[in-house]
Amino acid sequence: LTAPGQLFEMEEAEVGVHKIRTWKHAPSTFRALLEITRFHGDKVFVVYSDERYTYEEHFRLAATLAHRLVDDYGVRKGDRVAIAMRNYPEWIVSFSAALAVGAVAVPLNAWWTEQELTYGLADSGAKVVIADGERAERLSGAGLPVIVTRGDGADRANWASWAEVLGEVRADVTLPPVEVGPEDPATIFYTSGTTGRPKGALGSNLNLGQAPMTVAYATMRGVALSGRDPAGAAGKRTNTLLAVPLFHATGCFAVLLTTMFSGGGLVLMYKWDAGVALELIEREKVTGMTGVPTNAWQLLSHPSLRDRDISSLGSISYGGAPAPPKLLERVTELLPGRTPSNGYGMTETSALAIYNSGRDYLAKPDSIGHPLAVVDVKVCDPLGEELPPGQVGELCVRGPIVIMGYWNRPGATAETFVDGWLHTGDLARVDEEGFVYVVDRAKDMVIRGGENVYCAEVEAALFEHPAVDDAAVIGIPDDELGEQVGAVVRFRPGSAATTEELREFLRGRLAAFKVPVRFWFRDAELPRNPGGKVLKTLLRQETLGR
Ligand code: AMP
Repeated sequence: LTAPGQLFEMEEAEVGVHKIRTWKHAPSTFRALLEITRFHGDKVFVVYSDERYTYEEHFRLAATLAHRLVDDYGVRKGDRVAIAMRNYPEWIVSFSAALAVGAVAVPLNAWWTEQELTYGLADSGAKVVIADGERAERLSGAGLPVIVTRGDGADRANWASWAEVLGEVRADVTLPPVEVGPEDPATIFYTSGTTGRPKGALGSNLNLGQAPMTVAYATMRGVALSGRDPAGAAGKRTNTLLAVPLFHATGCFAVLLTTMFSGGGLVLMYKWDAGVALELIEREKVTGMTGVPTNAWQLLSHPSLRDRDISSLGSISYGGAPAPPKLLERVTELLPGRTPSNGYGMTETSALAIYNSGRDYLAKPDSIGHPLAVVDVKVCDPLGEELPPGQVGELCVRGPIVIMGYWNRPGATAETFVDGWLHTGDLARVDEEGFVYVVDRAKDMVIRGGENVYCAEVEAALFEHPAVDDAAVIGIPDDELGEQVGAVVRFRPGSAATTEELREFLRGRLAAFKVPVRFWFRDAELPRNPGGKVLKTLLRQETLGR
């Protein structure tokens, strides 16, 4: 590269029979990205509590663990390495190590119950799992080798402690030799399934190189659109507060990979807490925060907002769930001069795909903005025909950030990925200026504080209760979380259960965020179409009056 602009050159690439645009100079595999991070040397990469890791330290830890995975655990290219952890620095080291040896990293949701974690391990066919102490306890029945960090209990058969596995970390360590190409699978992120069990979204090494470039470009554009000097902003080192879990696409792709790519700092939290976030922004001179709308809302509502010096914070970005225009009003009122951004993305698009930032966002607060530079979008009718501007249809996305398909689910893959286009299940329209608006969700899903809850999964668990005859799960509007989970239940004749009994029953089967907070018991049959599908819009109207 001889000029900075060349970084953002695009080229046409053939993926299967489709021609898509890609970033010409994006690293083609995660290994390459990891090698690049070595140039950032002694700059601080990860901050967690009072711990700090430089880029060089992270590289050495990751390369050392990579050797151990190969030598001690027999991990080979294509094998799955599961990670079950909160946002600890070891999450990032494990992720890097797995990908460095050409394995597929499988980040599991840390809120999952034992049942859900066991399912994730079995479905992905993981060879080894790296877990924090709390998660490891929930994995005792999995029968897999477990590497345990941040917790004891490494005395069980098949378990080994992080320190014991790593052994000596040498300064001259290099990555184990292995050929990895852009088309090789890299990640499996679990995303809820429309038909019950979560399904694995299979991402490639191509996605891992293209996603951070795409976000970096969009960020630059956002800075330009906010009227700040892009050259000045480009020269400034970013220090990002991660408000969401690393096991979500946004945390991993939009934040972690982008940070690694640009050599910025990443401030981790064990779990989201608005008060702690404000403290960290002040202490670490955080320049940007990325999360879901609920994070931004809670930060701005926190009583200590006025007492903290958060003048370093230049941008606040959110996505993953609808952002109410009221949120933008609060951002502009309480954080004047900052660049607010609303990003649309999915696990299936390796996070960010469509982005509204700066002046654009202020002008059109209910839009998700324009597709990112290497991303194509279209709005189509049920037959897949593209609709003209203004008309509402299903939003479809294409580009090098779209994943390969679903792990071991050819049926679901064929349904969702058609002729190179990802069918998002979201209903949208595009205006004359190319701004995209999400109008509704065609998929039966509740988004609670950015966390997706597929109604079918909760309904399936409810049907296991002996007293339940019929059940349907609906979203209840909520200012802070966007939506909460609610359930309408009809009991079998002569049977009944209390709200608390049902909640207790579900807590054993589902992560806490999926358990409905409100139940409505009804005697009448649930409204259904002739095909037997519950008419959710009608049911919501009958139940909530809207
Ligand atoms: P996930 O795969 O968990 O990231 O969830 C993706 C879904 O979240 C999308 O299909 C949308 O329904 C929703 N979503 C993501 N970003 C936005 C946004 N900015 N505005 C509205 N809905 C969004």
